Amino acid sequence: MAEFNLIEIIKQHTRQTRADVRIGIGDDAAVVCVPLGHELVVCTDTLVSGVHFPVATDAADIGWKSLAVNLSDLAAMGATPAWATLAMTLPTADAQFVEYFAKGFAELAATYELDLIGGDTTRGPLSITVTTHGLVPNGKAIQRRGANVGDAVYATGTLGDAAGGLRILQSTDMDARNVSTLAQTLIARLNRPIPRVDAGIALLDLASACIDISDGLLADLGHVAASSSAGIEIGEDCLPLSTAMAESFNAETCRELQICGGDDYELAFTIAETNVEAMRGAMEKLGCRVSRIGRVIEEAGVHVLDRNGQRRPTTDKGWDHFK
Ligand code: ADP
Ligand code: MG
Repeated sequence: MAEFNLIEIIKQHTRQTRADVRIGIGDDAAVVCVPLGHELVVCTDTLVSGVHFPVATDAADIGWKSLAVNLSDLAAMGATPAWATLAMTLPTADAQFVEYFAKGFAELAATYELDLIGGDTTRGPLSITVTTHGLVPNGKAIQRRGANVGDAVYATGTLGDAAGGLRILQSTDMDARNVSTLAQTLIARLNRPIPRVDAGIALLDLASACIDISDGLLADLGHVAASSSAGIEIGEDCLPLSTAMAESFNAETCRELQICGGDDYELAFTIAETNVEAMRGAMEKLGCRVSRIGRVIEEAGVHVLDRNGQRRPTTDKGWDHFK
């Protein structure tokens, strides 16, 4: 199968319906129209087989996840997704893989009215790079660096689930389809993360800083703290835990995965006390769970407090690709 045919398969299965796309797939480059009063928010993420997803992951899940991790970055900035490009490196011209990949990608893209406008297709070890483009009103993008001492720290959803799912996959010889329903829930959190796009948009004008939790809570809050020239204290008993996690692992493992596990794609954000009520109302409308997990302090670093308010020594700063 030729590269051209693979591109055709992708084109047929993905969304290309936005009116603001002047030129989409098929020319040397895409041309899009940025609405007046808005800025373009751009991010790229690469997923490498065996590093960012287990080698045996379904093609549709890889398609979904490669877009989801990008949309999560847009969410952290408060941006509304608009367009994406897709660079695929495939070991063979596997039409079936490409078809299922495109279906998984398109399923998530449709949720956010995001169009695929171009990309590149090459041969090599399986690796997927997606670039997404989102829109924010001029000057409104939420950054990592806005946290102020005294702000509350919140997290969406529950933490540690994806790392729990990975641990289950790694500790069992079983096919993912044959594990319990609880385990399935956690594995789905790993393979089909749901980016907090609507929550991110709702945080515009409310949050002082925001980040998506991809490398683990501790590591990612560390970026917020450092960028904001402040510190963060979190209470380990305040961290939101899913029923699936509580019933799958002991308390210590849950805590470790909540603090250091990666791939959750929840948002962690800081917010002035005066905005908390409005934020809670907005999140309730979206059906998005939020938990107060800590506060911004002067002392640098991220500090985890146990239930007695004592600081826990933390060594593992989350997932670092070069460690
Ligand atoms: P060029 O050689 O000019 O870079 P290509 O032959 O690589 O063009 O691509 C032809 C068209 O198909 C371009 O519009 C490109 O953006 C698009 N395209 C190529 N690969 C992909 C892909 N994996 N997903 C989406 N669009 C793609
Ligand atoms: Mg060209």
